[in-house]
Order: sequence, then C-alpha cells, then structure tokens
Amino acid sequence: MFDIQKIRADFPILSTKVKLKPLVYFDNGATSQKPKVVIEAISKYYQEINANIHRGVHTLSQLATDAYEASRIKIQQHLNAQFSHEIIFTSGTTHGINTVANGFAFILKEDDEVLVSAMEHHSNIVPWQMLCERTGAKLKVIPMNENGELILSEYKKLLSEKTKIVAVNHISNALGTINPIKEMIEMAHQVGAAFLVDGAQAVPHLKPNVQDLDCDFYVFSGHKMCGPTGTGILYGKEKWLNKLHPYQGGGEMIETVTFEKTTYAGLPHKFEAGTPNIAGGIVLGTAVDYLNEIGFEAISHHEHELLVYATEKLLEIDGLKIYGTAKEKASVISFNIEGIHPYDIGTIIDNLGIAVRTGHHCAQPVMDFYKIPGTIRASFAFYNTKQEVDELVDSVKKAKLMLS
Ligand SMILES: *Cc1c(COP(=O)(O)O)cnc(C)c1O
Repeated sequence: MFDIQKIRADFPILSTKVKLKPLVYFDNGATSQKPKVVIEAISKYYQEINANIHRGVHTLSQLATDAYEASRIKIQQHLNAQFSHEIIFTSGTTHGINTVANGFAFILKEDDEVLVSAMEHHSNIVPWQMLCERTGAKLKVIPMNENGELILSEYKKLLSEKTKIVAVNHISNALGTINPIKEMIEMAHQVGAAFLVDGAQAVPHLKPNVQDLDCDFYVFSGHKMCGPTGTGILYGKEKWLNKLHPYQGGGEMIETVTFEKTTYAGLPHKFEAGTPNIAGGIVLGTAVDYLNEIGFEAISHHEHELLVYATEKLLEIDGLKIYGTAKEKASVISFNIEGIHPYDIGTIIDNLGIAVRTGHHCAQPVMDFYKIPGTIRASFAFYNTKQEVDELVDSVKKAKLMLS
C-alpha cells in the first residue's frame, strides 16, 4: 500500500516552511530530500562506530569495515551486479565518469572516437572532451529530435570500429527523456565499443539491472536517491575495471609500495584511494533499503500519475511550452512561458514557497538546441502530491499575471 501521508511524514523537511509558506519541493532532479532513517543513520554512525576502515584490527575499525562492505553488497544486489568488487564507492556521478574517462586515456589513440548524446549533463560531456584533448580522439554527438528523443538511425551511422566508448544518460535531467539504453548498448557492442550509462536521474525512479542491460559502466550519485551528498557508485564490469588505470593514487589502493615501483591493489580497492566518505557509503545502503521498502513499482506509478496530471494542468496555461515530450518520460517537466524569462518566474514562485530549478540545468547544449536561455524545471519525487502540483500551477499563473 502506497500511503503518501505516511511517506511524507518520513521526511522532516517536507513539513517546514519557506518564506512563511509550506514548502513545495519540486527540485528533486537537483537533489532529493532525506528520510529520517537516513538522517538518523548518519548520526548513529558517528556516535557508535566511527573509525577508519580496512586498516585497524581494533573492534570499531572492524565494525566500520563490516558496515561499509555490507553496504557494497547491498548495492551489488540492488543493481544485480555479478560481483561485489564491481561496485566502486565514489563521491558521485561526476567522480565516476571522470574515473572511467581517465582510464580510457591509456586506451584511446588518435582518431579513435567517443560518442555522447545531445542531451547530456555537463559532467557527461566535459570529462570526455578533456579525454579527447589528451589523446587526440574525437568527440561525436548523437543527435535528438524536437521531442527530445535520440535519433537511433543517426546513432547507428555514427558507430564504427573507431568508436571506443559511448556515454549516454539513462534519463535526461533537462528533459526527462528515458533513453532506450538497452538497445543502444547492444548496438555499441556490435562495433566493439564500451558503454557507460549516466544513471544519475534514473536511480531515484527505477531499479537498474546492470547484467540485463549489459552495460560496461553504470554511474550515479547517492544524493539524488535519498542518500547523503558526497556519495556515489561506479559499477564496472570486472574485465573493464581490471583493464583501466586507477584515477587517483594514495593509501588503500596499493598492494606494495617502494620508491622504485608500486603495485596496485585488486578490485574494488584499486579505485578507492584515501579515506572515503565512510558514513556516506554506509548510509547510501540505508537509502537503498528505504526506497526498496516503498518499492520502485509503487514509486514509478505514483510519479507517472504526477507527471500526467501536472503536464495536463500546466498546458492549460496560455503560452506555456513544455520542452521534452518524449514518449518514454520520467517525472520531469521543463517549461517556459512565452515572452517571460524563466528566472523571473522562478524568483516569484520561490516567494510563494515553491522550489523549482531555473536555468540551463547543466545541459547548455540542450538549451542551445531549443534556442532558449533556460527553462523552469519541476521534477517530482514519490513524496510529492497532486495538491502540490495544483499549488505550482496556481503560482505560475500568478507569476505570469505579475510579469505580463
Ligand atoms: C546530477 C547529474 C549529474 C552529476 O551528478 P553529481 O552528483 O553532481 O556528480 C550527472 N548526470 C546527470 C544526468 C545528472 O542529473
């Protein structure tokens, strides 16, 4: 049973006020709110088991290590990865993508090609550009249509034996498009290219099955899925992680060190130099448990209802245009009102207690595609309600009256 009031009670921040108005939080695409179990688990860790991991034989160090490794296994099972050493703790999606891009610097040669899509977040563009600058490889872009859907026939034409890696988001943060990544992964594999999925926007809404997708890498952040900031996961197939050079050197990632030569530790430690965000890694497991208890079917059902309802209500506003009208879409609505700058609407509705994001959403090429400076983005989570959508719609109407 999906009991929305019970769920909302799990999130202390949802009953606070902003500008004296009850908070309506529709900026879930930027970061999600945290349930009490997550907030309490952070404090419990520091009160009861704080110690460094993988280092001491003392009791607390063992407890911390066990909890950290148990969380790794939980995430392995959540993603249906084959091995727990294929799960690398990172500080977030950005860190995960940079780790893979850096590893490919030792693999790519001049004139090799890297493919990204027209709707990537900057963190799935810039690391690949840096990689291409370092290696002389070329960055190619999979185009999209007006609805915000990738054009697979063009993707097919771009793929060749020169393609070494394809990096595409599972769900677009700017448009909400759910990309057909399983099919795209299969196409990349036919030319021998590796495939990285940027799952940052997907993991709050669905449960990825990395073996079924057959992706080579799947990266995401903890903070968008009810977990703490500064946490994330890089899943990589064992054969790829073994092949890639580590991104950072330091403690914990070595087997032996002399001044002449260092040999690296095995997986997953090779990619986990230095003291990690131990509390964060453990509590990311708590967040995964929390979401699974609610159930991803219930989550996506509720969010889809919000999406359909909000789309219909917003489109009743004269001059409102939605960007991103893909057939397969997550609960993200990017829109503008004719003749009004998105920033002006965002500012007015913030005064009415509504949190949305305005701007380019770290996806400037998407804004350039539509020839707009930015959009207003309302992104819904399972703890949002239709009543909140009504408040958004009313506020946008008010803002429109004030500005036109
Ligand atoms: C948020 C986001 C990122 C970056 O995540 P960080 O947590 O800032 O590292 C990358 N890709 C997409 C699609 C995102 O939504």
